Amino acid sequence: MHVEEKRGKSDCTKENRTLNIFDPQVARAVEAEVKRQQDKIILIASENYVSQAVLQAQGSILTNKYAEGYPGARFYGGCEYVDVVEELARTRAAALFGAEHVNVQPHAGAVANLAVYLAVLNPGDRILGMELDHGGHLTHGSPANISGKYFQCFSYKVDAQSGYLDMEEVRRTAQRVLPRLIIAGASAYPRTIDFAAFAQIAGEVDALLMVDMAHIAGMVAAGLHPTPVPHAHFVTSTTHKTLRGPRGGMILCRKRFARAVDKAVFPGIQGGPLMHIIAAKAVAFKEAQGEDFYRYQGQILKNARALAQHLKELNFNLVSGGTDNHLVLLDLRNKGITGREAELLLDELGITANKNAIPDDPQNRLVTSGIRLGTPAVTSRGMHEAEMKQIAALINSAIEGKDDPVALARVKREVKNLCTAFPVYQQNMV
Ligand SMILES: *Cc1c(COP(=O)(O)O)cnc(C)c1O
Repeated sequence: MHVEEKRGKSDCTKENRTLNIFDPQVARAVEAEVKRQQDKIILIASENYVSQAVLQAQGSILTNKYAEGYPGARFYGGCEYVDVVEELARTRAAALFGAEHVNVQPHAGAVANLAVYLAVLNPGDRILGMELDHGGHLTHGSPANISGKYFQCFSYKVDAQSGYLDMEEVRRTAQRVLPRLIIAGASAYPRTIDFAAFAQIAGEVDALLMVDMAHIAGMVAAGLHPTPVPHAHFVTSTTHKTLRGPRGGMILCRKRFARAVDKAVFPGIQGGPLMHIIAAKAVAFKEAQGEDFYRYQGQILKNARALAQHLKELNFNLVSGGTDNHLVLLDLRNKGITGREAELLLDELGITANKNAIPDDPQNRLVTSGIRLGTPAVTSRGMHEAEMKQIAALINSAIEGKDDPVALARVKREVKNLCTAFPVYQQNMV
């Protein structure tokens, strides 16, 4: 072989091995997933469709770079460009949320929470979070999670009658437990959380306050949900739910905790940060500053309210009777169907949602009596209130007609038509 032929042909580029050519098995699964995201109505409250720009940053060659440490203080050479990226992500997030300090390195929301625990707790300390079955998250003290194994965990609940958080119950529990850390924030709570009241209680019992705003971060960024930032010592979040960035986590905190938080993330829990994901976070934070994003978040809320209203008119019971945010929690007990059955039935017809425990659910966690519906993804594909009315009717027809093949075939057809009318990958942004 001539030397000239070899020169400039590195091992990774010598063949034009696209994913399709090199690994058709993975390529086919990705293509099938594209089609699934196009052909189904996604009502999973924690999912969304990211923009082209986010996807591009996330798929970039920044994945090749090691950058342990923080901008200006890395343990590797060659970090001058990824430093630019991380600095952009940090400063944009700080401006967007009005935070004193930001860490954009957590690989996920769960890791962001763990980093806060590592930063300020000792094993055996007491933490107080929202009961899992009442809308809380696994990482807030579930026995199945590291938080439940390393700390003494206590929980507060929503009011059994109203479905709302009862801040007096939170206060009584906090006074009884005397936790080191109180955690506010939820995965399945359809109402506005009073962060000021949580801060008041934390102050009374001399506890630290962490707010996990994973679900509502987009609305907080847009100013359409009260911000926890002035009230909490730590605010954790995912970046991929209503915020519509790449999968990942972040931590906002007061300056005096900056060092402890940064050390907890690296080297406390993680090694090298995912610089391609951090680039995509920076892009998402830039998108979130814009007027389009504000309108998008407003439409998520209008759509959730419309969905809730129409479902109520169809005799569905809603936990707490409605919604203030992007999600609706249905109590299906009057409909003769469990959460699991509803999830399977709806997905078969092209509507994807998840079964979810309702407060004090008589069914176990794999069955449940509820289903959680969220509007971030359908709003990203351009749907408005009229489509929410149609979706409510489709859900009702599916459940009412679950034993009627003709009715189910009609639902399936209408779902398909609706998806065709709102293409995902041409019209990604509102
Ligand atoms: C989704 C969620 C998380 C976890 O995020 P991951 O990125 O999946 O680890 C943490 N807390 C709350 C409240 C959530 O809703």
